Amino acid sequence: MKMLQLGITFIILLEQVSGEGQWCYSSQNPACGPDHWKDISHNCGGDHQSPINIEKAKVKRDSDLGNITFNGYDHAPSAEWKLMNDGHSVLLSLSGDISISGAGLPNTYKALQFHFHWGSPTKDGSEHTVDSKQFPLELHIVHMNAKYSTVTEAKKDPQGLAVLGILIMVGEADNPSYSPLVSAMKNISLEGDYVLMTPTFPLESLLPAHGKLSRYYRYQGSLTTPDCSQAVIWTVFEEPVTISRNQHRILTDTAHFSSQGETPVKMWENYRPPQPLKGRQVLASKDATVSCSPGLCAPVLTLCMISLAARILLN
Ligand SMILES: [Zn+2]
Repeated sequence: MKMLQLGITFIILLEQVSGEGQWCYSSQNPACGPDHWKDISHNCGGDHQSPINIEKAKVKRDSDLGNITFNGYDHAPSAEWKLMNDGHSVLLSLSGDISISGAGLPNTYKALQFHFHWGSPTKDGSEHTVDSKQFPLELHIVHMNAKYSTVTEAKKDPQGLAVLGILIMVGEADNPSYSPLVSAMKNISLEGDYVLMTPTFPLESLLPAHGKLSRYYRYQGSLTTPDCSQAVIWTVFEEPVTISRNQHRILTDTAHFSSQGETPVKMWENYRPPQPLKGRQVLASKDATVSCSPGLCAPVLTLCMISLAARILLN
């Protein structure tokens, strides 16, 4: 009997230990949601956390932030792509020679994977917000500095990773570029499910229109899931991508957090709320929109008027 009790105690202890480091979104269980992540990973309480709210009136223009050079984004790769439900998101592992460089990035960054964050069929769920506006979904394309061969190494360097954030809104027409992903969703309903997709689309077709890619915001931040490593150079495009209402419904309402045999819980609201800027400066690329707040605009406008008047008088 004692042996049995000892055995049971041991199993409970083992479960508690393996349970450590478990994280989730509040929609799954408030006890392990974003407010508690700092308890399992110290980084999540750091000073350079993501996502953030981008305030157009407070961003600073940096004319050195020019065009991004996209390599391998323009053709469908020959290798198969693995799309999987990892219990937190829907993630596609990328292979082949796909990378980005330029645009103020200190090196070439190789594409590793992309995944989505969303709300629900009726609730917005982007991670980044612009002037406090949340979008229905957000796509993240994660790249690693080419000088590293493992993510573990890259996560130790503030310039180790570069993530492209694409805000997604909902319109009337289907976006054909997103159709293969949307139809694959039904095969990855549960955690651990995956499907091998023959890539029929180039990665660039998931991005905003070609002419709008030079409009973006840049800041230094972190991964938006534990361990929240502060190793990310963020690029958030100003121009959103549009998918249809039906595509949005399928993308947000098909996957579950739970695996086979568990009570099914819909994968809803898998986003982290905006984090404090803590003194960081968000930069605007040379073509991005910068607006000025009434408080700032008035003095600037007055100075402009005075200098204009002075020039007229001097002439
Ligand atoms: Zn993400």
